[in-house]
Amino acid sequence: MEDGKPVWAPHPTDGFQLGTIVDIGADSLTIEPLKQKGKTFLAPVNQVFPAEDDVNKHVEDNCSLMYLNEATLLNNIRVRYSKDKIYTFVANILIAVNPYYDIPKLYSSETIKQYRGRSLGTLPPHVYAIADKAYRDMKVLKMSQSIVVSGESGAGKTENTKFVLRYLTTSYGTGQDIDERIVEANPLLEAFGNAKTVRNNNSSRFGKFVEIHFNEKNAVVGGFVSHYLLEKSRICRQSPEERNYHIFYRLCAGASEDIRQKFHLGSPDTFRHMKSGPLKDPLLDDHGDFNRMCVAMKKIGLDDTEKLDLFRVVAGVLHLGNVDFEEAGSTSGGCTIKNQSSQTLEHCAELLGLEEEDLRVSLTTRVMLTTAGGAKGTVIKVPLKVEQANNARDALAKAVYSRLFDHVVTRVNQCFPFDSSANFIGVLDIAGFEYFEHNSFEQFCINYCNEKLQQFFNERILKEEQELYQREGLGVNEVHYVDNQDCIDLVEGKLVGILDILDEENRLPQPSDQHFTDTVHSKHKDHFRLTVPRKSKLAVHRNVRDDEGFIVRHFAGAVCYETTKFVEKNNDALHMSLECLVSESKDRFIRDLFENSNNSKDMKQKAGKLSFISVGNKFKRILWIRVKSPGMVSVLDLMQGGFPSRAPFHELYNMYEKYMPPKLTRLDPRLFCKALFKALGLNENDYKFGLTKVFFRPGKVRLLQHLKTID
Ligand code: ATP
Ligand code: MG
Repeated sequence: MEDGKPVWAPHPTDGFQLGTIVDIGADSLTIEPLKQKGKTFLAPVNQVFPAEDDVNKHVEDNCSLMYLNEATLLNNIRVRYSKDKIYTFVANILIAVNPYYDIPKLYSSETIKQYRGRSLGTLPPHVYAIADKAYRDMKVLKMSQSIVVSGESGAGKTENTKFVLRYLTTSYGTGQDIDERIVEANPLLEAFGNAKTVRNNNSSRFGKFVEIHFNEKNAVVGGFVSHYLLEKSRICRQSPEERNYHIFYRLCAGASEDIRQKFHLGSPDTFRHMKSGPLKDPLLDDHGDFNRMCVAMKKIGLDDTEKLDLFRVVAGVLHLGNVDFEEAGSTSGGCTIKNQSSQTLEHCAELLGLEEEDLRVSLTTRVMLTTAGGAKGTVIKVPLKVEQANNARDALAKAVYSRLFDHVVTRVNQCFPFDSSANFIGVLDIAGFEYFEHNSFEQFCINYCNEKLQQFFNERILKEEQELYQREGLGVNEVHYVDNQDCIDLVEGKLVGILDILDEENRLPQPSDQHFTDTVHSKHKDHFRLTVPRKSKLAVHRNVRDDEGFIVRHFAGAVCYETTKFVEKNNDALHMSLECLVSESKDRFIRDLFENSNNSKDMKQKAGKLSFISVGNKFKRILWIRVKSPGMVSVLDLMQGGFPSRAPFHELYNMYEKYMPPKLTRLDPRLFCKALFKALGLNENDYKFGLTKVFFRPGKVRLLQHLKTID
C-alpha cells in the first residue's frame, strides 16, 4: 500500500469506508475519507485493505478480484446484492444473501434447465450450479457428495436446501412420485419442526441431513432424512415475541368443526402452550398453511387415519399443558390437580389413550424402588411437590411431542423408499454458530456441532490442500489456521470432556447443575478454551452464584453458557412412572411412538433401570456418523495465497492435443502444457506447475475457457 492509493478503512457503523492514504506511520496509516475530504483519521495498518480501482464494478467470483480481502469481498457482495444478484462464488463455495422477496425467474424451470450439466463458473453463481457440480462429481468420481449449508438464523439455509432438492429431483429424477415427494416432505417437517422466532418467521428448530439417493444410472431413486436435536424447551415455553411449533396454531385455525369437537379444540388463547407468545402473526396465514399442509400430507401418501393420529397427539399435548397443580391440604407435602372440575385432565387422558386416574397419579407421584432392610426392590409412591409435578407434566409433553416428531420424520422416510442406491447427495441444513444473551444446553450442542464442522473444514480443505501443494512441490507459503482439536476434546473427550462429565452427573443419585459446573471447572483448571464467567456477566442481575456456568472459547468467539437445567436437558428419559404409563397407552399409535422411536429396545430397557438417556451423547454419535463434509468459514487466506483450481497434465494434453501441431504433441504431457501456456501467452504468476498437475491462481482458470473438466 502506498500514498494516494484507494483503500478500505474501518468505519464506526458501516464496517468499512473508502479513503486514500495520506501518510504512512510505523503501525498506523493516516486516511482521508472519500466522502469527507480534509477530515483525516488514523487507522491501524492491519485494518486497512487495498480497494479495487472501480468499487462499483462487481465480479461473479470473489477470487477474480484484483485484491481479495474482507473489505473487497463485502463490497463485491453488496454491489451485487443491490442489483438482485444474491449469489457470489468464492472459488467453489457459494455465498447467498437473503433477498427477502421473490426475484423473478431466479428459480424458474427454465433456469433449472440452463444449469444442467454446466461447469461451475460458466453461468452466473447460483445454488443450482452447486447442486449440479455435486451431481457431476458424484457421477464422475462415483462417490457420494455432500453440500453443507451454513449461516445464522434467517440467512436462507432452508430455502436454499429446498432449491437444491427441487433442482436435483427435477433435473435427474425419473418423473415419478418420488421426485415430488422429496420436495413435498418439507412442508410437513416444517409444520412440526419450525416456529416463528424473533429472527425468522419460519425458523427451523431442528437440524437435518437430507440424502437424495441415485441408482447406477445416476437417476433419483429415493431419499432419506436424518434429524438432530429438536428444540424441546419451545414446546412448553416461548420467549415473548416467539411462538410454539406451527402445527399447534395451524390445527387450531384450520381444523374442521368435526375435528374441533372430537379433540376439544378452542382458540389458541385457551392453551397455556401457546399463550405466552403472540397468538397470531400478521405475516403468517395459519388457516391457509393448515390447508397447504394437508395437501402436502396427501401428496406424500398419508391417509386420513394417519393424519388424525398426528392431530390427536398434538391436541393431547395442548390439553396436557393446561393441567395445573396446587398444594395438597394434607401433611403429605404433595400436590393435587387444581380445578378438578374442568375437563382438562379428562380430555388429555382421552386423547392420549390413558385412564384419567392413572394419569393423575403419575403426574403427582413418583415411583421409587427401595432396597431398605435388604428387601429386594419394594415399589413406593412418593408424592411430588407442585414444582416437581409441573416438571413432570412438561417432561411428558416434551417427550410425547418429540416422539411425535421422530415419527413424522420416520413416516416421511417411508414415502420415498429405495431398495438399493449407488450413491447419494446429502444436504446438511443446521443452525449456525449461536450466541445469545443467555446460552443454554441447546446452544452448547449447536456450537459443538459447528466446532466439528470447522474441524472438518480445517482438515478437508486447509490441511489436505497444503499437503497437496507439498506433494506437488509448489513451494507455497504455509497458510496458518487455528487448530480447534483442543476445543473439541474439551467437549467430547473421554471421561474428562464436558459431555461425559454431564453424563456422570446425570447418573448420580442426586445430580445438580452446580456440582456439574464445579466438576467441569475443577477438571479443566487452566484450560485455554475454558474460563469461569465473571460475576458481572451472570450473577449480578440474576441472583445466581457467580460460577454457575462456563465460558468456552470457540473458533468463532467466546460463549458464556449458563448451566442451569443442563442436567435436566441432558436426560431424555421420563420419570419412570410416566414412561410406563404412555408406553402402555390404549391408543395403538401412542404406544408405537414410544416403542418405535429412535431408541433401540436396549436403550429403553436401560432407561427403565437408570431413568437416564444421554441427549448429549446421542447427539455426539449421530454427528459422527452423518457429518462428513466441511463447513464454510473464511477461506480468504487460503484462496489468496493458494491455487484453488487445478488440472492434471494428461487431461489438458488430451483436451488440447487436437489443436496443436504434431511437433508439440510428441512432447510428454508436462512439457506439452508448458508449451501450450507459452503459446497462449499466460502470465507466469497465474499458475504453477506441480509434479502431476498444473495449479491456477484464484479466478485464473478462466484463461482456459474451454477446459470443461476444471471447476
Ligand atoms: P433458521 O436457522 O432460523 O432456520 P434459515 O437460514 O433456514 O433460518 P430460511 O428459513 O431459509 O432461513 O429463510 C428465512 C426467510 O427468508 C424465508 O422464509 C423466506 O421468506 C426468505 N428467503 C430466504 N431465502 C430466500 C430466497 N432465496 N428468495 C426469497 N426469499 C428468501
Ligand atoms: Mg432453517
